[in-house]
Amino acid sequence: MNDSATALSIPAPTSTTVDLAKWEIVIGLEVHAELSTATKLFSSAPQLFGAEPNTNIDPLTLGLPGSLPVLNEQAVELAIRVGLALNCTVQRSVFARKNYFYPDLPKDYQISQFDLPIDIDGWLELPSGKHVGIERAHLEEDTGKSTHAGGTGRLQGASSSLIDYNRAGVPLLEIVSRPDIRDADQARAYVSELRSILVAVGASDGKMEEGSMRVDCNVSVRPQGSETLGTRCEIKNVNSLRSLGRAVDYEAARQVDLIEGGGTVRQETRHWNENDGRTHTLRVKEEADDYRYFADPDLVPCDPGEEWIERVRAALPALPAARRVRLAEAVTSAGGPTGSPEGIAIVVDRSLDALVLAAIEAGANAARALTHAEHNLSDERSTELDPAAFAKLVNLEVDGKLSATQAKTVLASLVAEGGDPADIAAAAGFEAMDTSELEGLVDTLIEDHPTEWGRFCEGDGKVTGFFVGQVMRATKGQADGKVVTQLLNARKG
Ligand code: ADP
Ligand code: MG
Repeated sequence: MNDSATALSIPAPTSTTVDLAKWEIVIGLEVHAELSTATKLFSSAPQLFGAEPNTNIDPLTLGLPGSLPVLNEQAVELAIRVGLALNCTVQRSVFARKNYFYPDLPKDYQISQFDLPIDIDGWLELPSGKHVGIERAHLEEDTGKSTHAGGTGRLQGASSSLIDYNRAGVPLLEIVSRPDIRDADQARAYVSELRSILVAVGASDGKMEEGSMRVDCNVSVRPQGSETLGTRCEIKNVNSLRSLGRAVDYEAARQVDLIEGGGTVRQETRHWNENDGRTHTLRVKEEADDYRYFADPDLVPCDPGEEWIERVRAALPALPAARRVRLAEAVTSAGGPTGSPEGIAIVVDRSLDALVLAAIEAGANAARALTHAEHNLSDERSTELDPAAFAKLVNLEVDGKLSATQAKTVLASLVAEGGDPADIAAAAGFEAMDTSELEGLVDTLIEDHPTEWGRFCEGDGKVTGFFVGQVMRATKGQADGKVVTQLLNARKG
């Protein structure tokens, strides 16, 4: 069997013969981000996700003869913001034609940047402190979208293909990392941090599920300690963080299996199939020359100049890393434990840090405000919450006027409709549970259940749930479980 035939065979997803400890995984990611402009990269056709097919189009989108591209200033501005946020040098760039034929590409070429991209040579710091190099970020136009009908959804076996040109010409920034990433966790952390940065600078909505952020994942393996890079495969269609992790793990195991079995990895483009959890050969990689790149004669070079770049730099908002530090510091100095770094990251990722900071400012218990933001504010409308109302709710709970469960219910209503938390609680019949009333209940329970009480006093944590459950039943869920536990511990002495 020759090498290429070996490369095409598909081994089991996780072969038991593979000893990954002897191998180092090397990953470089290419992320395409749709820029949040009102119109397309080279025309005034609108860009709007979810519109009726073929309504956001114009002669330029369709590549009609005589139509000429005009560069979108806002797209350039956003590319500069991202470049600066990623510590890149922003430079004079040139648009080139990348020639290939595909039905979703009406001009038969894509306008992209090739040897002179707008952003070069930067880096991104992961929350762990690791730096991942950024080779370049370049502007290009998106293609249309094909839908293959009457089969499995792939071209093979389809009875017809439909084409929607709404996406054709939408501005993309392709951000290319250096091969500095070493495992699936780092790959996910990189994409998630990049997403946060894109959202923070207003460059993209970063929605992977809507295709505003698409990841191509290059994976190779090499023996531990080796300095030379192995042959890479590029994996397409990785459209969630979870898929990214699974695809990296599968692909690395496949390559190691292949090499240990005496074969070699062939450089190719592979497709991640979410259903069978494997990558499959899509095509053998074209050489760059296949695209016959040349400078687009219809466009002048894009030279933003120092003044524009410096204006953008001065106006850059705080980036996620700095915001995480600021939030953790604010919570700590307000006396609260900050919980896990992941929790802080989630809150910043959801752009809820401003809300928590303002609530702390308004007198909210910091740790509790942070916990709610992490666990109970996944609704997109949560960023619109009134910080004073949020602070008031947090403190009603901390003061024992609302149980944790009740506070969650009131919070959900605050997010959906606004209002005053005390009024919402009163309308819902959440009455304040008097502590002395609770104390009486706890004492009666202790008397009625001497065996369970004995076990509790000996440190059997499992019976805590029994007592809390009894109190909850007696109070129809009005009691605060935490307060009950505190009372039990106080009785234990
Ligand atoms: P292409 O045009 O083939 O997509 P690019 O230069 O756009 O090539 O992207 C190459 C990507 O592959 C970069 O993210 C780079 O870090 C990564 N890469 C290059 N060599 C390797 C390798 N041996 N193993 C893993 N990733 C690699
Ligand atoms: Mg590429």
